[in-house]
Amino acid sequence: MRMVTLSGHVDYLRGGAPAGELAALGESMHADMARMYPLCRSLSGDGVRATLDILEETLGLERREVPSGTRAFDWTVNDEWNVRDAYIADLQGRRLIDFREHNLHLVSYSTPVRARMTMEELRPHLHSLPDRPDWIPYRTTYYNRTWGFCLPHRQLQELDEGPYDVVVDATLEPGHLTYGELVVPGESTDEVMLSAHLCHPSIANDNLAGIVVATRVARLLQSLERRHHTYRFLFAPGTIGSITWLSRNADVLPSLRHGLVLTGLGGPGALVYKRSRHGSRDIDRAAGHVVGRRGGEVRAYSPYGYDERQFNSIGFDLPFGRLSRTPHGEYPEYHTSADNLSYVRPPELVDAYTAVLEIIDVLENDRTYRNLSPYGEPQLGKRGIYPTTGGRSASDAVMAMLWTLGYSDGSTSLLDIARVADLSFTDIRAAATTLAGAGLLGDP
Ligand code: ZN
Repeated sequence: MRMVTLSGHVDYLRGGAPAGELAALGESMHADMARMYPLCRSLSGDGVRATLDILEETLGLERREVPSGTRAFDWTVNDEWNVRDAYIADLQGRRLIDFREHNLHLVSYSTPVRARMTMEELRPHLHSLPDRPDWIPYRTTYYNRTWGFCLPHRQLQELDEGPYDVVVDATLEPGHLTYGELVVPGESTDEVMLSAHLCHPSIANDNLAGIVVATRVARLLQSLERRHHTYRFLFAPGTIGSITWLSRNADVLPSLRHGLVLTGLGGPGALVYKRSRHGSRDIDRAAGHVVGRRGGEVRAYSPYGYDERQFNSIGFDLPFGRLSRTPHGEYPEYHTSADNLSYVRPPELVDAYTAVLEIIDVLENDRTYRNLSPYGEPQLGKRGIYPTTGGRSASDAVMAMLWTLGYSDGSTSLLDIARVADLSFTDIRAAATTLAGAGLLGDP
C-alpha cells in the first residue's frame, strides 16, 4: 500500500482499497497488539523497554532514559519497578492467584512482600469488582508505597480463612523512566505531535490500540516522498511521561502547531474527538470535521482524561486534542481484564488509522485558492474535467468542483468550503487539485 502522496493514500483507503487489503491491515495491526499485550508495562521498567523494542522493529525510535529522582515541574521521576514473580499460594504451594497467568493480578508498583498471612491480614490488599465478578480489575499504587492483588470477585468469595503464602518478588529502586520518541522531518519545522501512552499492562484498548494506530501512521508518513510538517511521535507513560517530556523539550514547544493524543481507538463505538482547551484551534477544526463526517462525536475540553491535560495546561497552552472511541470510564470493560484482545477489533483499528490520516491530510493540504475564472461558471467540459459518465460519484465530483469554484475567493479555505458544502475535505481537496490542474484556481 505504498503511495507517493498522503492524499493519494487517503483517497485509496477511503475508496479504492480492496476489502481484503483493509482486512489484512486490520489483522496485522491486531497481531502487533497481541505481541505487546502480555508485557508487564507500567510507569517504568523492562515491560516498557520490551514494548519499545517491538516498536523499534519498524520505527527508528529514539529511546530516552530519565533517572529516578529527576524533577519535572511539580513532579519527580519515580523509582523503577520490575517484577520477577508474584502470587498468593495455599500451604500446599498451589498458586491461587498468579501474576504469571495475568499481570493485572498484581497492583502496579506493588512493593516487595514475602509473608504468611491469614485472610484477615490479606483481605485489605485484595481488590475485586463485585458487580463484574469474572473480571480482574486494574489497580495502581504509583505514589503510595503498598502492595496488592486483584482478582475476580467470584474467586475472592471462594477463599477461606487461610493462611496463605504471599509473594511479591519485585524491585522498586532507583532506575529510569523510559520513553520512545520519533521525529519524521518535513519541509517545515512546524510540528504535528501525536502521543500515545504506554504504561498499561495487559490491557488492549487502553492503550495498545493507540500505540498500534500511531505506529502505522508513523510508518506511512515515513514512506511518503514529501511532508509539509515535521511529525513527532511520543510513546511515554501517562502523566509523568508527558510532563517529563515537556520539561526536557522547551526548545521544541514553540514549533508545535498541532497535537493529537491517541487512545482507546480499537473498541466499539463511534470516534470521539475531544477539543483542545481553546476549542477553535486548527486541530479542532480538522479533527472536528473528519470525525463529524464519519458519524462520530465532538466534545468540549475538560481538564481530566489522558495527556491532553498536560499539553493544554495553562503554562504550555498547546493545541492538543484527543481522538478515541468510547472514552475512558464510559465502557464497563475499562481498566479491567475484559479490555482484552477480543474487545478490540481489526476494522475499528483500520477506521481509526484512516481517520488520523484524514486529519493529517487536512493539516497538510488545507489552503486557500482564488478562482481564476470568476465571471460566471467556467465551462468544465471544454477543459475535459466534466465527468462524462453518470452516476452518484460523478455528480459528487461535479458538486465538489462547483462548491470549490463558488467559494474560492482568496480567503475561504478548502476546509471552510467543505463545511459550507457539507462535503468531505477529501472531496473538496480532490476537486481543487483537478481545478488547479486545469488552470481554474490559483494562489490567493
Ligand atoms: Zn487507563
